[in-house]
Amino acid sequence: MNRHFDHDVLIIGSGAAGLTLALSLAKSAKVAVLSKSAVNTGSTWFAQGGIAAVLDDEDSIEAHVADTLVAGSGLCHEDAVRFTVERSKSAIKWLIHQGVDFTREQNSDDYHLTQEGGHSHRRIIHSADATGKAVHSTLIEQVQHHPSIEIFEHHVALNLITQADAGSRKLRCTGAYALNRADDHVHVFQAKTVVLATGGASKVYLYTSNPDSASGDGIAMAWRAGCRVANMEFNQFHPTCLYHPKAKSFLMTEALRGEGAYLRLPDGTRFMPKFDERAELAPRDIVARAIDHEIKRLGCDCVYLDISHKSPEFITEHFPTVKARCLEFGIDITRDPIPVVPAAHYTCGGIVVDNNGQTDLENLYAIGETSFTGLHGANRMASNSLLECIVYAQSAAEHIASRLANVPAPQVSPNWDESRVTNSDEDVVISHNWDELRRFMWDYVGIVRTHKRLERATHRIKLLQKEIAEYYSNYKVSGDLIELRNLATVAELIIRSAMERKESRGLHYSLDHPDMSAIARDTILVPTNFAAQDIIVSA
Ligand SMILES: Cc1cc2nc3c(=O)[nH]c(=O)nc-3n(C[C@H](O)[C@H](O)[C@H](O)COP(=O)(O)OP(=O)(O)OC[C@H]3O[C@@H](n4cnc5c(N)ncnc54)[C@H](O)[C@@H]3O)c2cc1C
Repeated sequence: MNRHFDHDVLIIGSGAAGLTLALSLAKSAKVAVLSKSAVNTGSTWFAQGGIAAVLDDEDSIEAHVADTLVAGSGLCHEDAVRFTVERSKSAIKWLIHQGVDFTREQNSDDYHLTQEGGHSHRRIIHSADATGKAVHSTLIEQVQHHPSIEIFEHHVALNLITQADAGSRKLRCTGAYALNRADDHVHVFQAKTVVLATGGASKVYLYTSNPDSASGDGIAMAWRAGCRVANMEFNQFHPTCLYHPKAKSFLMTEALRGEGAYLRLPDGTRFMPKFDERAELAPRDIVARAIDHEIKRLGCDCVYLDISHKSPEFITEHFPTVKARCLEFGIDITRDPIPVVPAAHYTCGGIVVDNNGQTDLENLYAIGETSFTGLHGANRMASNSLLECIVYAQSAAEHIASRLANVPAPQVSPNWDESRVTNSDEDVVISHNWDELRRFMWDYVGIVRTHKRLERATHRIKLLQKEIAEYYSNYKVSGDLIELRNLATVAELIIRSAMERKESRGLHYSLDHPDMSAIARDTILVPTNFAAQDIIVSA
């Protein structure tokens, strides 16, 4: 049976961004949180390194701002960077207040801070090498016991609902339709304010470090509802992810290369020295590009990361988790080279928002990896992303709470219309299109781009979208179909953005335009043909 749920605020996504917002709002609002799987799904749980914040007396806001601007290759919005960094200390204090157990210095109450690539100071607060899990489990514990927060697990939001007053063309967001995977029905979630906290879109690529949830649902839903999307061409790739048919998304930490591991071709030859004088210690994007080049040149599946020349004792002491995980797949890293490929890791672009997380559509906000705040520019600096989740969730919470009393209650929305669809007997179409999309995105719109490859991708995405649209209008929705439709939209947005950028900057590298332009511009896409079928005109 289709049901209607009413809340003050509907948050779609239960990662660091969504849960921080829920907790920050719960005093003033009745909140619903949707998660498309269990509450702990999302990239947050897997974050390893930590959260960047100005916490050390030797460090300064100016230094953190300057480092972020350098990493972003001239495309960061300085006001957004400053806004985020200035709030970093209070964001961490808030997490500590929630109960997050960050690692301390030995025999001291001071928190231990590490330094990562691009940061000029020690400013990464962490919880051993599993910061995301520590943050996420603490927030989950808090929301689960909060009387004003209702969590709906295994509910996949599929479309936003928009309404306009009679005689007005001005739309506002009033809820979302969501498929409950348990009863297979699409329910109506109505709210005065809706927040997208759905994470990134790295699953659009064949290889990714992200969990399955990262299918860009929020970006696709916002686009369909009429919101602008920016800088989708900037996809960060991690150079080394374990390549094994059964190993999903396992990162080979960069510390392996830091401790002397070599990158080798299938015949055992080292190749990094011919790409950069720093060899394996070159920055992430250079190593990822070199691996991509060699894989495409040789037509091989992967390259190898080899630390077997170090003693077994050293390897066991420094890399216990990597060693144990590889052993599960029959790879003994004290003797064997590890098969690796680069993997899509972070989506720098997203839904255009202001410093309060407000999108172009009234009463719709976006926070966390799904949003485009201007913080990351053309390349995200390590550990700035969790910070962005907390800071913007808190500013959005303040803004939403201050307006809520004046937002009109939504009109009753109609049930999801399933009268013209049937059960699919051709699910192979979904799995086939899914594989095809992720593979051509990898081959043609990956780490190194050319005009010709992007044209090929444009051609393929048009065909796929036509087929998916036909399928969507004839068959009942399923979780896989919803994700496939969204991945196709996100793929189109990435391809279009990459076509528009006629230069190489940060994470976007084009063989046809290898130089960086003198003027830095965002790629902003404006939707022209949005979801008329979900618009309800209230009397
Ligand atoms: C392996 C790894 C290591 C990382 N390490 C770091 C690090 O050390 N420091 C750092 O700052 N960043 C790190 N990052 C990046 C960082 O973890 C993410 O950017 C951040 O966690 C994103 O949080 P989020 O709340 O925006 O989204 P997520 O945590 O991804 O959560 C998204 C949520 O949205 C839900 N959702 C999605 N679509 C729908 C839908 N249609 N309906 C309902 N629910 C939906 C999902 O179920 C999930 O609950 C890392 C990322 C990865 C993958």
